[in-house]
Amino acid sequence: MSLPLTIENLTVHYQKKPALWGVDLKLEAGQIVGIIGPNGAGKSTLIKAVMDLLPLSSGVIKVFDKSFSKNRKRIGYMPQRESIDWDFPVNVFDVVLMGRYGHLKWFQRPRSEDIEKTWSCIEKVKLTPFANRQISNLSGGQQQRVFLARALAQESDLYLMDEPFAAIDSATETATIELFRELKEQGKTIIVVHHDLATARRYFDSLLLLNKQVVAFGPTQEVFTGDRLQQTYGGKLTILEDQSIAASAEPSIG
Ligand code: ADP
Ligand code: MG
Repeated sequence: MSLPLTIENLTVHYQKKPALWGVDLKLEAGQIVGIIGPNGAGKSTLIKAVMDLLPLSSGVIKVFDKSFSKNRKRIGYMPQRESIDWDFPVNVFDVVLMGRYGHLKWFQRPRSEDIEKTWSCIEKVKLTPFANRQISNLSGGQQQRVFLARALAQESDLYLMDEPFAAIDSATETATIELFRELKEQGKTIIVVHHDLATARRYFDSLLLLNKQVVAFGPTQEVFTGDRLQQTYGGKLTILEDQSIAASAEPSIG
C-alpha cells in the first residue's frame, strides 16, 4: 500500500533565507501526527510545501506515491487562522460547499450529493443553526469548525491541519480531537501543527519535532522526551517541577 506522505531532502527558502532544509519524512497511514516546534520553525512552510503552495529549492514530495497535482482530491487542508480573511463576505454553507469543488468538474454545478454532504458536515460540527451566517459573525471556535467541516466535506485520505486548536474553547478542542480520531479509525492520516506541549502526548500517535530541520520523528512515547524537546526549542523551554513540560510564553503566530 502506498504511504500517504513521503518527503525526501526538502529545502525551502524565502528570498535567500532557508526556512526548511534537508527534511526527510515517511508517514504510515491511519494515525494522528503532531508537528511541534518553536515559532518560525517552518511548520506552516512544511504544510504549504506539501500543498504545492510554495516553490521548493530542492526535494521531492509524494502524496500516495504521486505528485500533489495528481492526488489533490485525496488531501484536505485547513490553513492557519491568521491566513484566512475572516471579513470575506461568505456564509458558512458556502465555505463548506467549497470543500466539494475537488469532486466537481469546473463547469459542473454542485450535485444533490454535494449539497447533502455539505449539510451533513455542517451538522457534524454542530453549526446547522448558523449555516446562513456570514463567517465574520461567528466566534473563534465556530469559525474554526467551519473550516473543519470544509475539510471533512473534502472526504480526503490525508488531512493537513495548521494549528486547528489555536484560539478555540476547550469544548471545541475536545470535539475536534474526537473527530480526528474518527477519521483515523477510517484509516485516514491527520497531520496537525500543534503548539501545546501539555496535550501533545495525549493527542498524537507520532510526533515530528521540527526546527528548520527534523530534530526527531517517531512514535510519541519515543520522541517526546525532555532532551529532544530542549533540542527543538533551544533555551526557550522550561521544565516544570512536576515533570510536565511547557514551552516558553511566546504566543504562537505566523
Ligand atoms: P511556523 O509555522 O513554524 O511558525 P513558518 O513556516 O510560518 O513557521 O515560517 C518559517 C520562517 O520563514 C520564519 O522565519 C518566517 O518568518 C519565514 N517566512 C514565512 N513565510 C514567509 C514569507 N512569505 N516570506 C518571507 N519569509 C517567510
Ligand atoms: Mg505556522
